[in-house]
Amino acid sequence: MSDKEKIISSQSSSDEYISKVTFKKKIINHSANEIKKLNNQTASDSSSKENTSIELNIFNEEKKKFFNCKKICVRTAHLLLVLFVTGNLFFQNTKLRDALIQRDYVYLFCFVSLTYSSLLFFFLTCFKNPGYVEKQQVECRRNFQNDGLPNIKLRFCTYCHLEQPIRSRHCEECRRCVNKFDHHCPWLETCIGEKNHKYFWLFVGTTNILICWCIEITWSSFVSYSKWSTWLLKNLLFLFDAQVLVISFFLTLSLFLIHTYFMITNTTTWEKFSRKNITYLKILKNESNNPFHQSYLKNVYLFLFGPRDNTWENVYAAFFKSNLKESNMSNNNSENEVQVKIEKTKH
Ligand SMILES: [Zn+2]
Ligand SMILES: [Zn+2]
Repeated sequence: MSDKEKIISSQSSSDEYISKVTFKKKIINHSANEIKKLNNQTASDSSSKENTSIELNIFNEEKKKFFNCKKICVRTAHLLLVLFVTGNLFFQNTKLRDALIQRDYVYLFCFVSLTYSSLLFFFLTCFKNPGYVEKQQVECRRNFQNDGLPNIKLRFCTYCHLEQPIRSRHCEECRRCVNKFDHHCPWLETCIGEKNHKYFWLFVGTTNILICWCIEITWSSFVSYSKWSTWLLKNLLFLFDAQVLVISFFLTLSLFLIHTYFMITNTTTWEKFSRKNITYLKILKNESNNPFHQSYLKNVYLFLFGPRDNTWENVYAAFFKSNLKESNMSNNNSENEVQVKIEKTKH
């Protein structure tokens, strides 16, 4: 190779080198720009996430305030309604007023104590913890699940961040998971669950008896007039009382009967009416099967005095084991019957 050729080749290689370097620089610049863009994007994403979480918090706070306000209004309305109806019976010309004038203390004591118990059970249901699910309790129950329970996927509550135990459900208004969830009562503005179900039943029962008594007093207090317009004017307050009382009578009576049935059979409103949506009940072949029913007396005892150590996972596992035994027994019996039939045909 001549000197000229050598110079040309070296020049060409250096040009190639320069072009490669510039190309690499371009790539580096481009990737740096991309990274900058991505960084900007992630920053904007995180800021938008922060914004949405702040908005959610504000929304939750507003929701909380609304529910708290609703609670106060509904409970005050109940208290005022009870005081108005019973007060009306005290101050008008009624049997109750006669008892007050004649100093019939037994009659008065019975009426006042019944009103007091109705209000007491109302407020006990409202202010008692309905049985909110605690994280420690979930850990305890998970151990039971490994021992005997069939493979059921327990629901995970994303709001409370816990695995929901059997018979529990998340209440959107109370914003908590409730053990042995029955329903969220709009009149008491609280959940009815494992720990306050008995107070609710007692409230409905005592209120129903009180309403019956009030209807009897109101009915006997109507004053007859020849002109219907004067009759209407003179009996206006009694008419209002009668309307409220008759509606409340049917409502409380139906609730009392339904919840007495739930108490005796160990079921809940949610389990009764949403059976197809509940995983641990869906898998049972027989729809009339209630895995939590033990004996009627024990059901009533558990309802009134609480489940204590008797966790529902245990009861459910025991039901499954006994069912498996029964199905095995029936299978064995049918096999024996088949064998006997075969032997008979052989003879
Ligand atoms: Zn929850
Ligand atoms: Zn609730």
